[in-house]
Amino acid sequence: MVNNLPVKTLTHKDLTIEGYSRAAVQTYWRIPELKLGFDLGAQPWSFMGTPTWFVSHTHMDHMIALPVYVARRRMMKMEPPVIYLPEAAIEPMGRVLRLLSRMDRGRLPCQLLPLKPGDELELSREQVVTVSPTTHTVPSLGFVVWERRRKLKPEFQCLEGRQIRDLRLGGTDVTNEVRIPRVAYLGDSSPGGLDACPAMFEAEVLIMELTFVSPRHRKDRIHKFGHMHLDDLLERREQFHNELVIASHFSTRYHSSQIRDCVAKALPDMLDGRLHLWI
Ligand SMILES: [Zn+2]
Ligand SMILES: [Zn+2]
Repeated sequence: MVNNLPVKTLTHKDLTIEGYSRAAVQTYWRIPELKLGFDLGAQPWSFMGTPTWFVSHTHMDHMIALPVYVARRRMMKMEPPVIYLPEAAIEPMGRVLRLLSRMDRGRLPCQLLPLKPGDELELSREQVVTVSPTTHTVPSLGFVVWERRRKLKPEFQCLEGRQIRDLRLGGTDVTNEVRIPRVAYLGDSSPGGLDACPAMFEAEVLIMELTFVSPRHRKDRIHKFGHMHLDDLLERREQFHNELVIASHFSTRYHSSQIRDCVAKALPDMLDGRLHLWI
């Protein structure tokens, strides 16, 4: 396999989280088992097979590889991909693709579809994505991927299979819909974006930005630029019910050891071991 970009991998239960994210450098994530990815700041060759992408916002380090990804899928004779973007980005991105297509003399077949806060998207019978507002310097979105199952209603749980079948054949709806938030993605955002979506705190896996960690960097300034500080995470520590919290998108001002030191000092228990630093 061609290795053109860094990819870090982490497994959580039946999910593999793959990606890379540094502020102003590039951000890209995917979960192969869910057949979807978040942000297209770059496109590792190995990510090409993932057919559906969610772009959180249109800063270049989160979307500049969109045309490359589309072109590669065409070249490899794969189905045109489906790419969801904040609705304000659809028209300009369409124009960018047309211009690039002219210069490259190659078609760029894809579906660009608009999303806005509050949208609910049915990807399949088992998979739903909800969209929440995030707070950044350009229109930006957060996403929660839910697994949807049908579960037997409590009043029927004591019945035998045969009785349930009879009820079902008689037209009784014996099941309820149950939704499990599997993965949440908070792209670039100040804490307002996290607080606006309670499901982010409940998802099994939360992938979030944590651009600033040093006490020297002032929180109020950071919020103005639409980013998170370690202090924001600390203030909310009791709210995180996630099994795994991935902190990422660290500023390039920090060395890896500096990030680890700052976080270890502020959060020695690493959220009971659930916090993972993506460095
Ligand atoms: Zn960014
Ligand atoms: Zn950004």
